[in-house]
Amino acid sequence: EVRVRFAPSPTGNLHVGGARTALFNYLFARSKGGKFILRIEDTDLERSTKKSEEAVLSDLTWLGLNWDEGPDVGGDYGPYRQSERNALYKQYAEKLLESGAVYRCFCSNEELEEMKERAKQMQLPPVYMGKWATASEAEIEAELAKGTPFTYRFRVPTDGFLKINDLIRGEVNWNLNTLGDFVIMRSNGQPVYNFCVTVDDATMHISHVIRAEEHLPNTLRQALIYKALGFPMPTFAHVSLILAPDKSKLSKRHGATSVGQFKEMGYLPQAMINYLALLGWGDGTENEFFTVDQLVEKFTLERVNKSGAVFDIVKLKWMNGLHLRSLPQDELVKIFEDRWKSVGILVDSDGTFAKEATELLKDGIDLIPEADTALSNLLSYPLHSTLNSAEGKPIVQDKLSEVAACLISAYNSGELLEALNEGHSGWQKWVKSFGKSLKRKGKGLFMPLRVLLTGKLHGPDMGGSISLIYKAGQCGAVNSQSG
Ligand code: GLU
Repeated sequence: EVRVRFAPSPTGNLHVGGARTALFNYLFARSKGGKFILRIEDTDLERSTKKSEEAVLSDLTWLGLNWDEGPDVGGDYGPYRQSERNALYKQYAEKLLESGAVYRCFCSNEELEEMKERAKQMQLPPVYMGKWATASEAEIEAELAKGTPFTYRFRVPTDGFLKINDLIRGEVNWNLNTLGDFVIMRSNGQPVYNFCVTVDDATMHISHVIRAEEHLPNTLRQALIYKALGFPMPTFAHVSLILAPDKSKLSKRHGATSVGQFKEMGYLPQAMINYLALLGWGDGTENEFFTVDQLVEKFTLERVNKSGAVFDIVKLKWMNGLHLRSLPQDELVKIFEDRWKSVGILVDSDGTFAKEATELLKDGIDLIPEADTALSNLLSYPLHSTLNSAEGKPIVQDKLSEVAACLISAYNSGELLEALNEGHSGWQKWVKSFGKSLKRKGKGLFMPLRVLLTGKLHGPDMGGSISLIYKAGQCGAVNSQSG
């Protein structure tokens, strides 16, 4: 059975790198009909906070990455917080001590420092060179009798290699002679990170460990612990770093990097998911638009790229536009309507205003807050004031004057407003006969009309715009300050 886990340390917000790791685990589990497990790695008690754990859980939930087992939902292999699993770590540490895979090390910090210094002078790697790996029973008993504090140190083979087959990186090899015996439990009884992770992954029956490339050095230690405990090794897949456009490691100085920030900026979770999936993965075609269901269907670890992926916010925004416009129409209308009301552009709505405005403006909007300027720009077209004052003022250029004169008279006679009263189709009927009477059509008709009516050379569909602005004035749908 496929069982994978996402194991965040609750020491800050969920970043895009972590979110992508969670996503790849999620997609792998769902595509294999397996289980996706959430484990909180809060062994660093000083840096871990409840608040950050809550934030990470809520960001994952917002993204839709639901877990089958975890601290809040439980499961057969809990508890799912490392801070609650100390008894288990202790039990396995004792087991390793019994088998001789670890030994008690009574070295003081000063001795360890000296050892490091000596290794440095001899230009050797800073590996443990103390006597406790080979100490006699009697020496150990003597220290125990004195009550000297001790750590549990893992006995690493002094030569040979360790090899794993990484699903993304292929064969990875380590020479064991540079590692040195490492501590798995501190003298205060606190288990060390790599030991906890191994015990957890083993006892939670994790089949595949999918995580960031930066954990590769940990994998070496964890693999040795697996062997010593006699547990079957999971399959590893180490995902590459996410890079900034300048190819350095993505960090806060490059701008928004946490999922919460993107949520606040108005990004849709499905667009985030789609974009994060493309950071190092593709289905092998040109296609870049995927729903979560499509990702579950197409995702394989074999297609995940070995090289770093560049985080491109411009592309993310573009992708958000695609997802926004692919929403069912009424959902999109509701999103924009709520937004316009919340920022105070829209006061009330007759039910169709927001719908028409959405249809008219949506193609120019990639991110929900952009809807604000789109609508307020549109509503600032000086429809009534231009036509009211145009006659007496030289704002109408000569070549527009013919169209202007007829337009003004159509406005003054009430004919134009009457047509607008019938909505967009009224406008279409009117503009057709207006063009006929002037013997103008196409650009020759619409450009002057656009300039005269909106004061601008470009904009969304003109008929739609004008009818909407007219309607805004009629139905009191919008805040009078923006109309
Ligand atoms: N807790 C680690 C982190 O947040 C992940 C460890 C792992 O996936 O093995 O980076």
